[in-house]
Amino acid sequence: MGSEHRELNIFFFPFMAHGHIIPTIDMAKLFASRGFNATIITTPLNASHISKTIGKAKTPAGSSINVQTIGFPREDAGLPEGCENIDAVPSPDMIPKFFKATVLLQEPLEQLLHQHHPHCLVADMFFPWATDSASKFGIPRLVFHGTSYFSLCASECMRLYEPYKNVSSDSEPFLIPNLPGEIKMTRIQVPDYMKDNEDTEFCRMFNSSKESELRSYGVVVNSFYELEQVYADHYSKVLGRRTWHIGPLSLCNRDGEEKAQRGKQATIDEHECLKWLDSKEPNSVVYVCFGSVSDLTESQLREIAIGLEASGQHFIWVVKRSKKDVEGEEEWLPQEFEKRMEGRGLIIRGWAPQVLILDHQAVGGFVTHCGWNSTLEGVSAGVPMVTWPVAAEQFYNEKLMTEVLKIGVPVGVRKWVGIMGDYVKWEAVEKAVNSIMRGEEAEEMRNRAKELGQMARRAVEKGGSSYSDLNALIQELSAHYY
Ligand code: UDP
Repeated sequence: MGSEHRELNIFFFPFMAHGHIIPTIDMAKLFASRGFNATIITTPLNASHISKTIGKAKTPAGSSINVQTIGFPREDAGLPEGCENIDAVPSPDMIPKFFKATVLLQEPLEQLLHQHHPHCLVADMFFPWATDSASKFGIPRLVFHGTSYFSLCASECMRLYEPYKNVSSDSEPFLIPNLPGEIKMTRIQVPDYMKDNEDTEFCRMFNSSKESELRSYGVVVNSFYELEQVYADHYSKVLGRRTWHIGPLSLCNRDGEEKAQRGKQATIDEHECLKWLDSKEPNSVVYVCFGSVSDLTESQLREIAIGLEASGQHFIWVVKRSKKDVEGEEEWLPQEFEKRMEGRGLIIRGWAPQVLILDHQAVGGFVTHCGWNSTLEGVSAGVPMVTWPVAAEQFYNEKLMTEVLKIGVPVGVRKWVGIMGDYVKWEAVEKAVNSIMRGEEAEEMRNRAKELGQMARRAVEKGGSSYSDLNALIQELSAHYY
């Protein structure tokens, strides 16, 4: 791009969860690669992770990526020490306190805006008040949700028309009104915060987030046009949002080191992990991971272990448990499981270098909780998926993968539970894993997935749909000031 926006400074303010911070870092890298000075605002404990990652980022001369910290009022909100990220909240009933603390960030954020006069603020959907903060300083506020167009449309139609109120039971299917594609859901799949009738603080925040979208400058979306064209158009033309698709953001990490550095420090040596994968045939390994927040019960983990063993497939399985917490055998693992699986299955306890793994040619399938980052990383890697939604907007993403794009098979969870997830038996795990790894249908799904993966890569290359939409946004922002 030319020099007309070289002096533009852009502030990014992600919600304090890895699923929000990781794509925000990628977004900052993307804007910096086009000559912007990007600053990520966060709290001290999150800042150390972020600084490590951006330390490796390659930015062109004349641009930069920085981190600015603001204190997190955890004590005022009654949160324990060290709790500055949603993955550090000790129990689900404390989550409302975490959200309460984030409201107190408005004042320190405004102080930073006052001191630094950025030209634009990209703030997370969980900070609806950021629209007013930006307007106090006369700068545009862009909203970042971190989810798909499909789920943005589905959740807005659900909010506006409340179709779940017109069914007589939790399991009676209903159509999501005004949403292209005749998508059906059941009441138990609808997030609790949608059904709460403004009774909870989270529900009020969710509604005010939706309304602040319309008052903001626009919405940036981590997706690409070819993936969900109908829904990108619906979101702008029917639901009236100004929007730019600039993803897949994870594709801005081009080399192995960048891919391995995303999020937290991996609990496996990346070279060891790659060596293990190198020893496997192409498309022969299934990767199993439930994101950064979901925490399945021990009995569910056990069913997964049995299902993976029964499937006969090679696998890498990420589990949010650490071995040092327990003496002897871990209860969630069948006896001598790891010994039997040696060479066939690898358990990563803690944090995996996910994109590095997904992009390896040995990986041929992904069991995912349908968090949007993971889902889109799976799409970009061109792998079919077993969909296992747990919470948030993940049931919508499942519909996109299984019914619209047809590159996923549902494991069969029925209920939105939040964090711990619904329960499925090992037979369902075995069946779903095999259905994406073996047979004619798996092959067809893999071909479709590979085609989408190639489209994803083209979208972010020069002249591609996401590259061009980012250009359009950059030009608009530049015109705003020059
Ligand atoms: N992730 C990772 N290693 C892990 C777990 C998660 O790198 O062991 C990354 C993953 O690649 C994705 C993000 O964390 O970028 C999780 O975001 P997502 O939207 O999929 O789910 P959430 O964690 O928000 O539920």
